Amino acid sequence: MTHNPDVIVVGAGLAGLSAARQLQRAGHRVTVLEARDRVGGRTWTIDLGGSPFDAGGQWTGPSQRRMAALIAELGLQTESTWHNGRKVLDLEGSVSAYSGTIPRLSIWKLISMQLAIWRIEWVCRTVPLDQPWDARKAAAFDTMSVRDFLDKHVRDPDVIALTNSAVRVIFGADIDDLCLLHFLHYLHSSGGLTKLIETHGGNQDSSVVGGAQRLSQGLARDLHDLRLSTPVRAIHRDDAGVTVHTTDSTSTTHSVSARRLIVAIPLPLVDGIEFQPELPPARVALQRACRMGHTVKCQVRYKKPFWRDQGWSGEAVCTAGPINVVFDGKVADGNPALLVFITGRPAQDWSSRDAQQRRKIILDGLVSYFGPDAADPIEIHQTDWATEPYSGGAPVVLFGQGALTGFGTALRQPIGPIHWAGTETARECTGFMEGALESGHRVATEVAEALGQG
Ligand SMILES: Cc1cc2nc3c(=O)[nH]c(=O)nc-3n(C[C@H](O)[C@H](O)[C@H](O)COP(=O)(O)OP(=O)(O)OC[C@H]3O[C@@H](n4cnc5c(N)ncnc54)[C@H](O)[C@@H]3O)c2cc1C
Repeated sequence: MTHNPDVIVVGAGLAGLSAARQLQRAGHRVTVLEARDRVGGRTWTIDLGGSPFDAGGQWTGPSQRRMAALIAELGLQTESTWHNGRKVLDLEGSVSAYSGTIPRLSIWKLISMQLAIWRIEWVCRTVPLDQPWDARKAAAFDTMSVRDFLDKHVRDPDVIALTNSAVRVIFGADIDDLCLLHFLHYLHSSGGLTKLIETHGGNQDSSVVGGAQRLSQGLARDLHDLRLSTPVRAIHRDDAGVTVHTTDSTSTTHSVSARRLIVAIPLPLVDGIEFQPELPPARVALQRACRMGHTVKCQVRYKKPFWRDQGWSGEAVCTAGPINVVFDGKVADGNPALLVFITGRPAQDWSSRDAQQRRKIILDGLVSYFGPDAADPIEIHQTDWATEPYSGGAPVVLFGQGALTGFGTALRQPIGPIHWAGTETARECTGFMEGALESGHRVATEVAEALGQG
């Protein structure tokens, strides 16, 4: 007697797990295949000195309703991001401190900054959430970089540098390397640039107590068939459904068949799986026109939160690099730490250095922002997401120029029994944990309907 599932889900990130749970609750037999030895994908909570720290996705904001519902359902709590005290702005090497939300810049720069934000907010709303390739100016936007757009509309180089800094932390890419249409769609799907960069009330408002990976662990808890350390190598489809070929931790190959399949892994990684018959050309072209951003997230742990004692919030924004942004990473009852993000082009350079140079870059930056106490950490823990084979980079997929107008319709379009999920397929909050949950719900509904039709 065979025990084939109705549905196979590839990838146990938030998207795959939420889809699997919804389908299992609806009475379908589901098997989840995950390459790593853990669930959570781009959310990964690690133990440092006895406290949980998020090496990947961490923050959620008040407008992210699926996140709020899941946190409540799992009985988890959130805590606000610490932002009391002076902040640091390192504008092209000139370091200044400020209180409140407005950095110390000339009135002309502040006006220019606000005008740039308004223009971006206004233009991003012209890009449809469902089908960005249908935007009135999609063809033009899809052949421009964010740099091209800013060069056209913003005169002040410091404002361009500040925007680049925001773009780096959101996308893990520089404005020169980011397609304008993708940027605008991404912003629109999260309610605009201001919401994306703000801490209090914005997307960095709060964290899950105990770490964001607890969401995935909670989703996985009741799944009947979750197989870790099981990377999918090949997917074959025929009239009956799909057969998926995997290897386990002992390199033994296995296969499992089902009527429907959900692929919930980042787009560039789909290209590493062998499909028989081959995927349609538009789908293959879409996958190949995408790459991952580059983000390194570091926890720099100290004996005491000296920056708080000295009136600093722990927040710093740097335009020139190598550091991109710094946040206070101390959670309630947890060990004090500063979170350092190195992203985009500077991350590529940083990653190519030896361990001693990498450490020096981080500490030199922190000392110049928060003083000599920063020079003496207990530990610096670094997660370079570009070296994670089952992510390939972070925090998000970058759609290359021409990808969305050329092949965007292939993003969610099922191919026979194969359905697509993952945060990059979301209409709301694409790129975020919230988007992953949205995509999981959408694909589970799609697959349940298909199963119902026989
Ligand atoms: C450093 C960093 C900071 C971030 N900060 C935030 C934040 O503050 N707030 C926020 O909301 N979001 C943040 N994000 C983004 C957020 O983590 C992601 O949007 C979300 O977790 C994506 O979920 P997903 O399920 O779509 O994809 P993933 O989490 O990437 O899940 C895909 C899964 O597929 C698995 N897989 C890959 N290939 C195979 C294969 N061949 N076979 C089987 N399994 C495979 C992977 O191991 C992974 O588990 C951050 C991400 C990073 C890395």
